[in-house]
Amino acid sequence: MTDNASLQSRRVAAVPRGVGNAFPVFADRADNAEVWDVEGKRYIDFAGGIAVLNTGHRHSKVVAAVREQLDKYTHTCFQVLPYEPYVELAERLNVLAPFKGDAKTIFFSTGAEAVENAVKIARAATGRPGVIAFTGAFHGRTMMGMSLTGKVAPYRKKFGIGMPGIYHLPFPTGDVTVAESLRALEFLFRADIEPGQVAAIIIEPVQGEGGFHPAPVELLEALRKVCDDHGIVLIADEIQTGFARTGKMFGIELSGVEPDLVTVAKSLAGGFPLSGVIGRAAIMDAAEPGGLGGTYAGSPIACAAALAVLDVIEEEKLLDKANRLGEKVKGAIAKAAQRNDTVAISGVRGPGAMVAFDIVKKRGGNEPDAEATKRVTQAAIADGLVLLSCGVHANTIRILVPLTVEDEVLEEGLGKLEKALIAANG
Ligand code: PMP
Repeated sequence: MTDNASLQSRRVAAVPRGVGNAFPVFADRADNAEVWDVEGKRYIDFAGGIAVLNTGHRHSKVVAAVREQLDKYTHTCFQVLPYEPYVELAERLNVLAPFKGDAKTIFFSTGAEAVENAVKIARAATGRPGVIAFTGAFHGRTMMGMSLTGKVAPYRKKFGIGMPGIYHLPFPTGDVTVAESLRALEFLFRADIEPGQVAAIIIEPVQGEGGFHPAPVELLEALRKVCDDHGIVLIADEIQTGFARTGKMFGIELSGVEPDLVTVAKSLAGGFPLSGVIGRAAIMDAAEPGGLGGTYAGSPIACAAALAVLDVIEEEKLLDKANRLGEKVKGAIAKAAQRNDTVAISGVRGPGAMVAFDIVKKRGGNEPDAEATKRVTQAAIADGLVLLSCGVHANTIRILVPLTVEDEVLEEGLGKLEKALIAANG
C-alpha cells in the first residue's frame, strides 16, 4: 500500500521545494467537507483547497455537469471553435456583476492569469502603464501577479525586481489608518507617478493571504473617487472573496462601492481550473482581437462546472448559509477564546464565512505568535482537521470550510479546532 511517508520521499526527490506543502498528507478521495488520505485516515476540510470549494468537494451537480460535458467535447480552444458553455457562463456572470451598466466577461485558467489580463485590459482602455496595489496584498505568482503582491518573503524573494510601473500603498491594518493610506497615495502622485499615467488600482475587498483583513469602506469609497477623478480603472480582486464566501456573491458588494473590473477564479468552478475578468463592457472591449485569450482559457469542462456551481449557490441559498455558518464558526472561536487553556486568541473577524483570528503571544496583547500558529495547524492535522494559516505575520488562522458542509461535520471540525488550540498551548 502507498503511504504518506513513501509518497513524501518520492515527492521530495521528484518535485522542487519551491512549491511548498502545508502538510505531508496525500489525498486519496474527498466528499463535500471531508477528505481521506492514502492511508485511509479521514480529515475534515477547513481549507477547501484554498477557497476553491465553497460548494464542497465533488458536489453531485458539478460532477454531473462535468460528466455530461466530457461526453460531448473536452477542448476545441475558444479562439478556434467557440462553444455555448463559455458564452452562457459569461452571460450569467454579466448579470451578477457588482456594478450597474453593461458587462462583459472573458475567461482564463488561473487566478494569476485573471490578474495579468485585468491589468492588460486596464492598460488597453486607458493607454497608461501604472498600477497601484497594497502592502499585504496577494495577486498571484506570475511576473505581474508577483509584482503586485505586497509581501516579499516568500513570494518575491530570489525572483529579482518586479515589473516596472507598479506601486504599493500601505494597507490600513494594525496601526495604519485609512487617512495614512490615502496620504501615501497623495505622496505617490507627487513623488513617483502622475495620476494621468496610472491605468489601475487593484485591491482585494478582504485581503486573503494577507490575513483576512477587510478593506475599510472609507478606503474603497475614497479609491472610487480617485479613480473617477483621474480616469483610473478600479479592479476588485475577488479571487478569494468571490462566490458567496462573504455572504454576498462578491465581497465588494458589502461596501456599496462599484468596481470597473473584477477578477474571479477559485470557487467559480468548484475545483476545476477556471478564472475570469468581469468588467464594464466599454473597458472590456478595449483590447484588439487576438490580444487576449489562451489555449486552455475558459475550458468547456470548467465552464460546465461553473454553470453548475452558480445553480448550487442559488438553489442551496449559499449566501444566507455563509452568514449563518460564519456566525457559528465565530461563536465557537469566541467560546474557545474564553478558556484559559488555549493559545492566546485575538481579533476574531470576517464577513460571512470568511472567518479568521490571530494567535498572539499574550492574552489581551497583539504581538503575533507564528510559532504557536504553526503548532495549531500541526495539532489540527494530526487530529484530522485541515486548517490553514495566513497573514503577513503568519499568525492568522483562516477558515474556508465548504459552505455546503453538513451541520454535524462542521460541529466535529469546530471541536477539533478547539482541541488544536488547547494542544498548541505551551
Ligand atoms: N488573487 C487572490 C486574491 C488570491 O487569493 C490568489 C490565490 N491565493 C490569486 C490572486 C492567485 O490565484 P492562482 O493561485 O489561481 O493563480
